[in-house]
Amino acid sequence: YKTIPVNKSDTLELKMLTDSYNDMMMTLKAHDDNQQAFIMNASHELKTPLTVISSYASMLERFGKTREDLLDEGITAISEETARMKYLTEQFLSFTKVTHSDTNQDKEYVPAVKLIESVASRLEKVFKRNINIDSGGKNPYVYVNPPAFEQLLRIFLDNAYKYSSDDIDVNIDETDKSIIIAVTDYGIGIPKEDLNEIFTRFYRVDKARTRKTGGSGLGLSIAKQLAENNDIEISAESIFTEGSTFTLTMKKETDNDEAE
Ligand code: ADP
Repeated sequence: YKTIPVNKSDTLELKMLTDSYNDMMMTLKAHDDNQQAFIMNASHELKTPLTVISSYASMLERFGKTREDLLDEGITAISEETARMKYLTEQFLSFTKVTHSDTNQDKEYVPAVKLIESVASRLEKVFKRNINIDSGGKNPYVYVNPPAFEQLLRIFLDNAYKYSSDDIDVNIDETDKSIIIAVTDYGIGIPKEDLNEIFTRFYRVDKARTRKTGGSGLGLSIAKQLAENNDIEISAESIFTEGSTFTLTMKKETDNDEAE
């Protein structure tokens, strides 16, 4: 063997290269693990409705022609579980979309109260519940990607609806430095030990309870990603059995008041 002499700076450079290669490999691995975990969770979620559908389908195949009671039950179950699969698939796509697209683009100044009112009035009709908006007479403009901001609000309002049965309050406040939007419900609340976890994808406080309300455990992680993409701070406060408040805080960029 021939020994190639290396000087100190070469060794240092080689070490730096190896380190950055290792860092890159770790990042790729983390990305891969993350993707794999997502696929596993998503498949697991789809498995339950799929199992129900396939068992009813084979029952109907065998007895559907002779047992009318089974026919009704089977059709209802299959259409409910299909709707669940459709909802889940849409959530998965939405999650993938927000984690891979940059909604930081196409931002504009929009009047917060007006935007919230239009989302709320549409949802009030679906929920058949009041959404009270209070801005204390203020009319701040927020610098956001409007569809992303609307999706964020919808996620909060949807959850407030699912996990409570009273009116929902939306408060809009403005300070020198920020605009704060808070969605409050007076429902079941979130136990303290779960509060830090709810923004984690697929996390549910109580799987059984959420299954009944038809959730996916993805809504808040989509909201977190949307908020991050739009430089919005997102936070949650809650008192178990009393209700929850989800807050968006937006730093004012420049003279928002003058922007239109
Ligand atoms: P899901 O689709 O299951 O509602 P989310 O990611 O939106 O998923 O929420 C995660 C979990 O946080 C929910 O399963 C629920 O347990 C809890 N949660 C979210 N919003 C509220 C709320 N307003 N009140 C009580 N619990 C909530």
